[in-house]
Amino acid sequence: VRERFDAHFGTQIPSSLKMRDRANNSLVAPTHINRYFFPSTYPVFVKDAAGGRIRDLDGNEYVDLSGGYGPHILGYSHPVVNEAIISGVTAGNVNGIGHEPEVELAELLVDAFPAAEKAILCNSGTESVLLAVRLCRAYRRRDVVVKFEGHYHGFSDQGMVSSWFRFTGDKHAPEPIAGTLGSDSGVVRNTLVFQYGDIGGLDRLREHADRLACVIVEPMPSSTAAIDEEFLSALRRTTADLGIPLVFDEVVTGFRVAYGGAQTIAGIEPDLTCLGKIIGGGLPCGAVVGRAELTDMARSSEDPFLDYEKKAFAGGTLSGNSLTCRAGNAVLTHLRDHPTLYEDLEARTRWLRAEFEESTRKRGIACRINARGSIFSLNFSHRSAGVYRERMAGSNFKATIALAYYMRKHGVYLPELHSFLLSAAHTDDDLAVVGKAFDLSLTDMAG
Ligand code: PLP
Repeated sequence: VRERFDAHFGTQIPSSLKMRDRANNSLVAPTHINRYFFPSTYPVFVKDAAGGRIRDLDGNEYVDLSGGYGPHILGYSHPVVNEAIISGVTAGNVNGIGHEPEVELAELLVDAFPAAEKAILCNSGTESVLLAVRLCRAYRRRDVVVKFEGHYHGFSDQGMVSSWFRFTGDKHAPEPIAGTLGSDSGVVRNTLVFQYGDIGGLDRLREHADRLACVIVEPMPSSTAAIDEEFLSALRRTTADLGIPLVFDEVVTGFRVAYGGAQTIAGIEPDLTCLGKIIGGGLPCGAVVGRAELTDMARSSEDPFLDYEKKAFAGGTLSGNSLTCRAGNAVLTHLRDHPTLYEDLEARTRWLRAEFEESTRKRGIACRINARGSIFSLNFSHRSAGVYRERMAGSNFKATIALAYYMRKHGVYLPELHSFLLSAAHTDDDLAVVGKAFDLSLTDMAG
């Protein structure tokens, strides 16, 4: 397959192909050429990026719909972010010592979420989930974590349990499965897996309540870009009744689908919220925000011996470094002060979705597109978006990967097997390029 694709696209991307071969001699991860367990057959190595576009080593320009997998809601190289980073470098990047930008970021985060009283800063979405779970385990003095099939919470052992590809057991009571080789089997044993949207299945929470540290959920799973408000209300009611902390993973949706994330759309207040991506302005960043009773599990007291026994540890050398915080503050302030940006993104999302649907409809191609608030999920499947395992079983992933490559040929960078993201920097011209590229790619794929 690789040779066929190299022959097909090779003349367009000779430098990227050369760089792929060079990279393969030394670099395993995280470069995208080896993402998701398979090597890309249309690698793109970026020379520079601005607004909604990236340019590769051969000078090809692409409208980018990866959005860096989430952070770049304002597009690449936005002046507000650039200025913050440059002035931050000039002022000196400080970490591990107090500074104003970390306080400002915490204030912005707490103000954005009605349910949040305090924030803890860290370096990634993965770390934010690790921290949230630790706070809940410390608070509840229990080990077991409830999560939902198909929800990815970062690359930790815990975050990946039953998060993708494999699933077994009853769909209403899935069996927990390690998300990756190398996982601690104890973590898998201490996880219970539920089905998003299955209100009846929430009775299982009552059965296990005594063992539970917390429930963690993506309120709007980015792989489906769909939110089930009725289910989330039932989940909130049940967890509140049982006194079990409810954690919303809004690493993708926080500041993307609305300033206050999916929870503002659903009108539901979780106990803790995990954040990442956008809040660092493109630099590594994560945060847990929520009720002080929980976040204060990591707050030091007067007595260090008491801390050891009664407190959870939250550390990280680069957590809350001033450069990241300045970049994050710049983005969040910009988003806060331009609330119409979200309506605009929603309108563009609707327009592009309609273009895609028209292209598939006129060819009679089974394709399900879910799109909301600048997140698109596209599956070549006639199944509904509902249950994760059914969606997976009914999807033609080879076609989805092939689409990503053909789109590149037509000037659009789609991430492979990942939802794609619009930014506020995408222009009408960019969107028109995407719509046309999709149409041309479907023709190519049929040929
Ligand atoms: N949670 C969700 C819902 C995610 O989609 C991701 C990453 O894509 C993470 C957590 C982990 O974030 P990070 O990759 O910054 O560690």
